[in-house]
Amino acid sequence: MKWREQITDLAVYEPGRTIEAVKKQFGLDSIVKMASNENPFGYSPKVDERLASIHRSYTLYPDGYATSLREEAANFLGVDEKQLIFTNGTDELIQIISRALLEPGKNTVMAVPTFSQYRHNAVIEGAEIREVPLRDGKHDLDGMLAQIDENTAVVWVCSPNNPTGTYTSEKEITAFLDQVPEEVLVVLDEAYGDYVVAADYYDALELYRKYSNLIVTRTFSKIYGLASFRVGYGIANEAIIRGLEPVRPPFNTNVLGQMVAAEALRDQEFVRKCRKKNRRGLQQFYDFCNRAGLGYYPSQANFILIHFHCDADRVCQFLMKKGFIVRSGRPLGFPESIRVTVGSEEQNKGVIHAMETFLETTAKINR
Ligand SMILES: *Cc1c(COP(=O)(O)O)cnc(C)c1O
Repeated sequence: MKWREQITDLAVYEPGRTIEAVKKQFGLDSIVKMASNENPFGYSPKVDERLASIHRSYTLYPDGYATSLREEAANFLGVDEKQLIFTNGTDELIQIISRALLEPGKNTVMAVPTFSQYRHNAVIEGAEIREVPLRDGKHDLDGMLAQIDENTAVVWVCSPNNPTGTYTSEKEITAFLDQVPEEVLVVLDEAYGDYVVAADYYDALELYRKYSNLIVTRTFSKIYGLASFRVGYGIANEAIIRGLEPVRPPFNTNVLGQMVAAEALRDQEFVRKCRKKNRRGLQQFYDFCNRAGLGYYPSQANFILIHFHCDADRVCQFLMKKGFIVRSGRPLGFPESIRVTVGSEEQNKGVIHAMETFLETTAKINR
């Protein structure tokens, strides 16, 4: 087969072990998954009501333009319907952007470590990748600016950043956008935007109006709790959306996903409650880290990266045996840190207790 050369040793995304597999291996009755930043509180009860009331046939193709979700979202966001693109999760939007703009001879600028899919898709398209190390867990926007040249097609900014949870302030992002050439597309990934409480966070909807080269990406997978339905979207001026649309598969979002996403948008009270509970959960982890003398990045997302200063895989193994699946920082660029999704108060207590046990056990071994 005549595979593209660049994909032959590209790693397949590792989704982490399934709950069932871990239960079986360690003979556990219950497992708490705190590895993929899903919402521990599920989704709006309105979504279940809506799902229970459907009388439709699944034989016909879905509405490829997602008209009803589009109307709902445009209205909610206060944007024009033509300024939106709906995709099979933000993952697919990242793929569409890459496919539309990247190719050999062009380059793309991103932070490192950041969300893995920017790099992954750039590799597939054969573009040159320019990675700029984080500083104190944050995007080095000046360093990224310095990497932009006449062949740069796309710049990725993840805020809050996965896996560090750090965010970019309004002052920082506007100073950056003021200097990016207008023919370079800036992607602002706000997968965790609804979790942010920092007073100096920007309003992405104001930014995209001011900067015609900006696309803001969002998802229903995180705070809305609908990861399995695979719905994400982008907000940008009409010219950018028009540029991307030919690359979008015609029926990329499905009938149920469109329906539950629209329903979930209507329940902002649920979103507010989750944001609030998430802050309390983060505080549990901060208190633990301070007690235990472990470093961490202050987070504006629903996860926290904790520095254990020992092999992260070992910490994960230990926690898994105790019934908690967390994400090793190793494949994320932090070999001695773990990324934990903030759970319910009980779940947080549980995983923190297991971490304390880990620290006690290793302290004994090292003694
Ligand atoms: C989870 C995540 C996404 C992908 O979300 P989907 O909509 O489920 O594809 C995108 N960006 C970041 C930074 C994420 O953490």
